[in-house]
Amino acid sequence: MNFSAGPAALPLPALERARDELLDFSGTGMSVMEQSHRGKAYERVHTEAQSLLRSLLGAPDEYEVMFLQGGASALFAQVPMNFLHHGRRAEYAVTGGWGERALEEAQRVGDALDLARMQRRYTRIPGPEAHDFAPDAAYAHITSNNTLEGTQYHTFPEAPGVPLVADMSSDFLWRPLEVSRFALLYAGAQKNLGPSGVVIVLARKDFLSTAPTDIPKYLRLATHADAGSLYNTPPTFAVYMVRNVLLWLQEQGGLAAMEARNREKAAALYAALDANAGFYQLPVEPAHRSVMNVVWRLGSEDLDARFVKAAEAEGMVGLKGHRSTGGVRASIYNAVEPTWVDALAAFCAEFARRHG
Ligand SMILES: *Cc1c(COP(=O)(O)O)cnc(C)c1O
Repeated sequence: MNFSAGPAALPLPALERARDELLDFSGTGMSVMEQSHRGKAYERVHTEAQSLLRSLLGAPDEYEVMFLQGGASALFAQVPMNFLHHGRRAEYAVTGGWGERALEEAQRVGDALDLARMQRRYTRIPGPEAHDFAPDAAYAHITSNNTLEGTQYHTFPEAPGVPLVADMSSDFLWRPLEVSRFALLYAGAQKNLGPSGVVIVLARKDFLSTAPTDIPKYLRLATHADAGSLYNTPPTFAVYMVRNVLLWLQEQGGLAAMEARNREKAAALYAALDANAGFYQLPVEPAHRSVMNVVWRLGSEDLDARFVKAAEAEGMVGLKGHRSTGGVRASIYNAVEPTWVDALAAFCAEFARRHG
């Protein structure tokens, strides 16, 4: 039972499919890793992954779907390089550690400001005051789910006239999404949709075309959009695994079914923790709790460590909190089975009974 924050659990059917196809992909007598990225066999995988993403999300035609490298961290830099033009300002709502990193990169490129000013007390998603974007901002940037702190946007801010950009690395595809609210969104695959090595970008074509042409070609997002993410060699095996995960998502009934499943898992785990409030301390305000990353602490670091170790002895791994926050964190992404979450919830009750 893998509760890792990322790289994270993958759906078993997606892995089994990879196992079955590993030595002979699609009758070619070779693995998908050994195929030319310009050959027919890989091309089918690449376009299938793109069209599955489009259809699962209902993404409008004026959006490009890209498979890039460098992780979400590369996008932290590429977004300002492409869209923070001279004389303009980008506005960020920094709601966690990853947002800090995004802002830091933007400030290396140009004028970028944090509207949220949370002073590192990231226990909630701030209100409209943190999302009052100036009409002439180059773009506005949010982090839809704060992987480290366990907070999540349950409704997205209005940004009339301002291109809204979102880092969705840890909650992309957890539920249906109104893509048209965003000018650009990006997500590293290794949390909710595949292995590490590929980052998914969806962006409006007219927004992409505003990027200056004098930045390095490779870093210009339109370069990759124009080349169908085949400007250079893409991470073929990672894209293949994303394809397998997307097929699984579709077989599960798509994003609406995923949302119902994810909400049930989160409700079960939060209920088990709340039933022992006091023993388990949950820093996040209930209305802003993440459905993907559930964070809590026990009375001491020693007790945190004992909890993690005892859970591991029961087959539950990946529960240690991030090195920056400490405590315990259960990441319950799409691929995490409801039965695992039930087992964890039961373990929480039992541990509290024994040590509370
Ligand atoms: C994990 C994570 C990142 C960093 O992703 P990399 O792919 O390692 O660059 C950025 N943003 C969020 C919200 C994350 O969860």
